Amino acid sequence: MRARAKTKRAAQGYTWEDVEVLAYKAEGTAAFRGVTRQVLFRDPQLAAEWRYFEVEPGGHTTLERHQHVHAVMVIRGRGACLVGEEVHPIGLFDLITVPPFTWHQFRAAEDEPLGFLCLVNAQRDRPKLPSPEELDELRKNPQVADFIRV
Ligand code: MN
Repeated sequence: MRARAKTKRAAQGYTWEDVEVLAYKAEGTAAFRGVTRQVLFRDPQLAAEWRYFEVEPGGHTTLERHQHVHAVMVIRGRGACLVGEEVHPIGLFDLITVPPFTWHQFRAAEDEPLGFLCLVNAQRDRPKLPSPEELDELRKNPQVADFIRV
């Protein structure tokens, strides 16, 4: 196999040359607001994908959980995230680990976007959304109830 060195140069505004800015998820599949996705790295010889997500001010990702884990590093702006039962403020270069089957949601600050790198398995299970019963359970924690958007 031929070794290929490839550089995707950084471009304006947290984009990269030859990397398409994609929709986060198909509209109407789950609750989210103002999120884009870029796949920075995908190679069959390494069983992982490296993505960059950006959430506009006041926007949020989907509240979900799944078997695969995430390693997330903030590289733009700030916001907060729910991981399990805890809400954390997050900012530049914070590293957030989402364990298997753990509820998580990311939100940008009201006045700043939130951009983060996210490392995942290339082969991974589909995210699951909370059932009404699971939402009731999550909302028993007032801090969680106040944070989540569904
Ligand atoms: Mn996820």
